[in-house]
Amino acid sequence: MAYSTATRQAFADDIATIKEKGLFKEKRFICSPQAAEIEVEYPEGAPCKRVLNFCANNYLGFSSHPEVARAAHAGLDSRGFGMSSVRFICGTQDIHRELQDSVSTFLGMEDTLLFPSCMDANAGVFEAIMGKGDVIIADRFIHASLIDGIRLCSAEYDTFKHMDMKHLRKKLELHQDKRRRLIVTDGVFSMDGDLCPLDEMCDLADKFDTMVLVDDSHASGFIGKTGRGVHEHFDVMDRVDLITTTFGKALGGASGGCVSGRSELVELCRQKARPYLFSNSLSPVIVSATIKVIDLLSATTELRDKLEANTKRFRDGMTEAGLNIRPGVTPIVPVMLYNAKLANDMARDMYAEGIYVIGFFFPVVPEGQARIRVQLSAAHENAHIDKCVAAFKKVGEKYGILGLDKKGIIEKYGT
Ligand SMILES: *Cc1c(COP(=O)(O)O)cnc(C)c1O
Repeated sequence: MAYSTATRQAFADDIATIKEKGLFKEKRFICSPQAAEIEVEYPEGAPCKRVLNFCANNYLGFSSHPEVARAAHAGLDSRGFGMSSVRFICGTQDIHRELQDSVSTFLGMEDTLLFPSCMDANAGVFEAIMGKGDVIIADRFIHASLIDGIRLCSAEYDTFKHMDMKHLRKKLELHQDKRRRLIVTDGVFSMDGDLCPLDEMCDLADKFDTMVLVDDSHASGFIGKTGRGVHEHFDVMDRVDLITTTFGKALGGASGGCVSGRSELVELCRQKARPYLFSNSLSPVIVSATIKVIDLLSATTELRDKLEANTKRFRDGMTEAGLNIRPGVTPIVPVMLYNAKLANDMARDMYAEGIYVIGFFFPVVPEGQARIRVQLSAAHENAHIDKCVAAFKKVGEKYGILGLDKKGIIEKYGT
């Protein structure tokens, strides 16, 4: 090793600090396909345990859907495994074009450009379309990948208070002298499950001649009455300029992402976005399977309807059982506990009951906002949901939090 023992010790100290703060991420291994029921090796070396999964982004159950798997096999057979090229050299097949067209139609946009991930889409889009003299005005809770992308761009960066449209208006008034303005938001905020008020945002954008970019990673495929996303939910499908989204959540769960929107903006990404120009093309296997996902979603709303029904069953069951959930309509259901140790302890006990959920605490959520985040899937059956609610009731009873509101839980456990 090229570095000294002292340097090595310094790195080891950094890791120890993470552990001392209780922020260490343990290894967990899944020894089965991703699905409603999975086999988990945890802790490392323990025999695999069969549990119900309530913490995946597998919202529509496509991660191991038989028709999607068949399409992946067909893609492998007809177009091979890898492209060994970035898109613009020799990494674009006819099926990459087909997927882009199919995503454009599904999202109601003029054009779409594929990226290796949504993180890459967000890393590329801002620098491609915004520059000196422009301003990006973002919600303060946007996803880390949007923040990273904005940092790579020379436009001025400003923020507005989380989902606060009065504050956004002030910022838009303040920046009227800029060449271009772009509002940036998540469609669904992943920790709270809240929908951004996109209709009001579009009204403000019109009034102040401003563009709107929505990252719909936690919405594409299931939010809105035909699953197109938050822009469908708020009936503003023709008023959003850019959507970035992932194929790594509801739309198959493998990987890949895109920028979809006004054709000239997408064209600028094709010419300038660095992850598009300098990172490898999506595998034909994923492209072929994702085309199938969009086809299935365009043919019937069955799966997003089932997810909606599952979400309601779970939210109603938890409320009735006396657990303190954050109200909302999305399949992201935070069980609010406020105290990090309580969230961790309860998640561990849920695992013992055969339910796989994870406690979230600072810095992933604001301090004093610790929770267990539950995510529903169309792959869940009623019996799965009922078992999860029953386990929460049993574990909640053990910790004496059933029927307690925020004040009650904090009085008992602190933050
Ligand atoms: C998950 C997520 C991403 C990253 O998507 P990848 O395709 O996995 O890179 C980006 N933005 C938001 C809002 C997300 O939730």
